[in-house]
Amino acid sequence: MRVLASPMICGAMRIEGKYEGPRIVIFAGEHGDEPCGAYAIEKLFYDFSMGARELLKGTLTLVRANEVALAENKRYVVHNLNRLYKDTNAESTDMSSYEYLRAQELKPLLRECNYFLTLHSAPIADEPFLVVEERHVEAFRPMGIRKFVTGWGAFDVLGGDSEGYANTYGAVACTLEAGNHTDMTGISVAYSAVLSMLTHWGMIADELPQSSGRPEIFRIYEVIIKREPFSWMGSARRNFDFIRRGEFVCMNGKEYLQTEEDAYLLMPSPAEKQRVGEEIGYLARKL
Ligand SMILES: [Zn+2]
Repeated sequence: MRVLASPMICGAMRIEGKYEGPRIVIFAGEHGDEPCGAYAIEKLFYDFSMGARELLKGTLTLVRANEVALAENKRYVVHNLNRLYKDTNAESTDMSSYEYLRAQELKPLLRECNYFLTLHSAPIADEPFLVVEERHVEAFRPMGIRKFVTGWGAFDVLGGDSEGYANTYGAVACTLEAGNHTDMTGISVAYSAVLSMLTHWGMIADELPQSSGRPEIFRIYEVIIKREPFSWMGSARRNFDFIRRGEFVCMNGKEYLQTEEDAYLLMPSPAEKQRVGEEIGYLARKL
């Protein structure tokens, strides 16, 4: 087993197993105000580099993605990094910005891996959940996460995320939302989730996959894009809130959003956290 710091990509570390095997890439801290994943991959890196764990086969590449935003504890510096993994970007993208340049540096890793995981957290989330395309649900069941969100890839407005880019180039990819931004139990959630998958892939020997029943699966059918003025309606909005048909969800740009069917509200952000034109929540059906 060899442990390498990439001389080409700042903040990237690679562990190589003795034998040929799957190429795994894990990003953490694509949003700099979501530190749990970064702590989790640092713990993993120390495990391997100190000899507490051994990688039996394949390669494991761990990346602190938005290093500048992580240092400043903010979501991003100029652009949302997790919307810039594209082959052609919008004209409004500042191509001299840190995030644009960082995305160009990281994209080759996404094109060349077999499996990709990106570790995030959400502003309001009582429990962890996995964002994954429906065709990859089975692949990530051994992770032991109980709620899966699908359908993300169907919306152009959400394009440019690392998971979607890796999927486009043939990887099996997912996004783990390990819990709340401020809840540090997200570190152990992310750490255990990665260990479960490495065990499942036969890359480490000493961890048992978490036992899990079938996850609950929610498919996004509407993205709420923030306009001004904006306010959530009803009781304090939580992630996976059940919303009965006909209930008002929010006031968005002076229009009221009312559900036409029983639905679930996913990943609601506090109004002040998102800019106009950014997504602020999602409506989903339970499958
Ligand atoms: Zn995030």
